[in-house]
Amino acid sequence: MVAELCCRAVKLLGTSAPALLASLCIAACGPEAAAPPSTPQTPAAPTQAGTAAAAPDETRPTLRLPTDVHPSAEAIELTVRPEQDRFSGRVDMDVTLDRGRRSIWLHALGLHVSSASVTPDGGAAIPASWTDEDDRGVGRLALAGDAPAGHARIHVEFDAPFVSGNKGLFKVTEAGVPYAFTQFEATDARRAFPCFDEPGFKIPFTATLVVPDGDQAITNTPEAGREPAGQGLVRVRFGTTKPLPSYLVAFAVGTLDVVKATDVAPNGVRSRPLPLRGVAPKGRGQELTYALAHAGEILSALETYFGIEYPYEKMDILAVPEMSGAMENAGAVTFNEPMLLLDPKTAPIWQRAEYAEVVAHEFAHQWFGDLVTMAWWDDTWLNESFAEWMGYKISQQWDPSLQGDLELANATQNAIGTDSLVSARQIHQPIATADDIENSFDDITYQKGGSVIAMFERWLGPDVFQKGVRQHLSQHRFGNATADDFLGALSSAAGRDVGSAFRTFLDQPGVPFVEAQLACTGGAPPHVHLKQSRFLPRGSAGDPNRTWQIPVCIKYPVAGTGREPQIKETCSLLGATEADVALEATACPAWVFPNAHGTGYYRFALSSADLANVRTKALPSLDARERITFANSLRAAFNHGSTPYAEVLLAAEPLAADADPRVASEPGGFVGMAHEWLATDPLRQRVEAYARRLAQAPFAKLGWTKQKGETPEAMQLRSEMLGFLLDTGRDAALRAEAKRRAAAYIGYHKDGAIHPDAVDENLAGEALWIAGQDADAAFFDALLAAFTKQTDDVMRGRLLGALSAARDPQLAARARDLVLDDRLKHNEMLQPLWGQLGQPETREDAWKWLQGHWDAVSARMSTVNFGGEQLVSMAGTFCDESHEKQVTDFMQGRAAKIDGGPRVLARTLEEIHLCVVKRSAEEPNVRKFFSKR
Ligand SMILES: [Zn+2]
Repeated sequence: MVAELCCRAVKLLGTSAPALLASLCIAACGPEAAAPPSTPQTPAAPTQAGTAAAAPDETRPTLRLPTDVHPSAEAIELTVRPEQDRFSGRVDMDVTLDRGRRSIWLHALGLHVSSASVTPDGGAAIPASWTDEDDRGVGRLALAGDAPAGHARIHVEFDAPFVSGNKGLFKVTEAGVPYAFTQFEATDARRAFPCFDEPGFKIPFTATLVVPDGDQAITNTPEAGREPAGQGLVRVRFGTTKPLPSYLVAFAVGTLDVVKATDVAPNGVRSRPLPLRGVAPKGRGQELTYALAHAGEILSALETYFGIEYPYEKMDILAVPEMSGAMENAGAVTFNEPMLLLDPKTAPIWQRAEYAEVVAHEFAHQWFGDLVTMAWWDDTWLNESFAEWMGYKISQQWDPSLQGDLELANATQNAIGTDSLVSARQIHQPIATADDIENSFDDITYQKGGSVIAMFERWLGPDVFQKGVRQHLSQHRFGNATADDFLGALSSAAGRDVGSAFRTFLDQPGVPFVEAQLACTGGAPPHVHLKQSRFLPRGSAGDPNRTWQIPVCIKYPVAGTGREPQIKETCSLLGATEADVALEATACPAWVFPNAHGTGYYRFALSSADLANVRTKALPSLDARERITFANSLRAAFNHGSTPYAEVLLAAEPLAADADPRVASEPGGFVGMAHEWLATDPLRQRVEAYARRLAQAPFAKLGWTKQKGETPEAMQLRSEMLGFLLDTGRDAALRAEAKRRAAAYIGYHKDGAIHPDAVDENLAGEALWIAGQDADAAFFDALLAAFTKQTDDVMRGRLLGALSAARDPQLAARARDLVLDDRLKHNEMLQPLWGQLGQPETREDAWKWLQGHWDAVSARMSTVNFGGEQLVSMAGTFCDESHEKQVTDFMQGRAAKIDGGPRVLARTLEEIHLCVVKRSAEEPNVRKFFSKR
């Protein structure tokens, strides 16, 4: 699964500019990192109550179903008519009972059960009644007689309303046409049909869909036959799946466009041609051309890496309206629309990169997750960390210009922000409650997990690592596996113990802090003294006394044969608290960089002298990943409290001229923070002048229009610099030009149509955002009119971003009310709140509004995947004591009612608190710095 992270959500506001993103995400998601997602759940709708009492030995399971009932197959027939409000169905589940019983525990949530029975092998059907036993979907079939040990078949008939949202079996309407789709991970298959809804129950499913004649019906396997079912319906039968957990089953029904693409050709590991299709809402099939043209290339790259052919009969990729993120259903992978519906000629660069990364991520799951499934949710990382790492890796391989490798470096730095908090989970986290299942889909699992895998891949060497991966997948194909299984395979491939070191990153939270000091004394060979502890920001209550076994690689120059020095790399495993690493050099190197290629999952600090040497001598020898890591080490020093504001900003300033947008944005983060803290201070104008001085030259070099043959890096840099100049720099001339272009873009005072040529596609989001900030009522109305008739999600994101930016009090009020406006899709609802909470000018009113409308907003978000947790994390926009208390008082009881809410609230409050501590220490320094300018 790919979930809507904070920054992904902000991206859909229509901009990719890191400056704007950073300011929104910093404002919205705490002092350092983007907030992760999670999921809420609606309370169970009442279903038919049973009457029989449980036998004394059949107590209600609190978290997991009993292990003495073994499902072996499930047949599902669903009648799905998207034009109606309810669906109905029946299931037959084959089970083995280890002992005789009167009760069988199952999952079903919000289903009305009309009849049920259990038929033992060779016996008569025993009537049964259904009772909901809790609001998370655990229920009991109470049998009217004893079912003996042995094989039996459970039969259940039921009906339920479609979910209005994007989880379970949900109904969505686009351009007036209704469709039904599914999203089951983590625990929402139970909303569509009764099942054993845990990943360890991996069984074959056989689906039949009864749908209106003329509708398309899609599931995990190819169609096996169809016949008329009366009343204008047709019964479509499908092949039996390979063993799957319930969360990987998927359905889609409606008058969909189904586009048959060329089969994916056989390759070195697959001898059969593989059928490939694309699915989109009616009339939008041709927008799948790009996605279908390249999906086979990405799939083949994965087959080659794994050395195992794609495990299923066919591959369908589905563009699903209103979906949050994407989902790896076996053979029927679902994506939100902009991930698949794109034209490479007009798509902004972030959209093309997202296509490659997310398609590779979901396809990688067909092996990591689908073929081999984690045994339980404590190993969600075995799915998601791998897919995250693989998504970037394959994207980098498929189109290096998309810079998947650098995106992973960026993701690492995001994860490090979250992982610095005391409230952070560990990657391999025991599951004590259902909340923990929801929380396991966070940026620790995805981004930290992916980064740790990349670190060990580099440490072992890519070939050894690949061998371990292949061994693991072959050993557990079509089954389940645990962390121990994977680490065992890796150790076996490496011929040594890898698990012990790996586990220090899996089984404890936190980011290692490596202090490195070059020592060249007394004729001894030069060495680097290393010291490790847990990285903790200033104000943290955490314990720094932690150790890891860290693969540390040090880069440094030695005298070469020619005039240029030769760059060397020395690696070692730092297991103790302190150690010396000898360098392969006879003379003292001019500099040392203690995280070669930026692959190490740790933060580092250098002595002042070593830091100055890196800054003045090493930068030209560092690759982009290393420069990103270096920039982040400055942020670490600031957040740690070891380097004050003036010093850190002056160190970061030269990075503004970097060719890589991720590095060039680093000083902007410090300036943006000052702009935020001094929101109502006259000194703010000096911050703005400083911002302009920093970014005007790099932007002037690039201009408003891209050059022929320009790199994606340059396109992103332009967007980055412009966003920073417009938002933090308040550059009057550029703002006027942005507004002029935004007006032309929406045909303002002209035809009211979209004119994509009016502004570069990578700058359209920035221009519209600024125009929205300064909108008057007439322009706001024009934006709203354009938004309302727009169907393309990227265009909608830009227009909604502009509406969300409104600062005029009356227009800001209208922007907030959009949250509950039916014209917004479920996956757009929070955008106006991100926009309003993200700006100091509108934040307080937005906070009041959110409190006043909490019940309505949280009710709607409860059926959006990870919606409830996103809502809780929005309160992390504050950085003062008064709001720290307000958020605590308001949220405490409410977050407890949201699945995964308590941990997200703990993190949100910790982020606010750390920001308050940082601000009280550094705001005087910020004032002093800008007073002198
Ligand atoms: Zn995933």
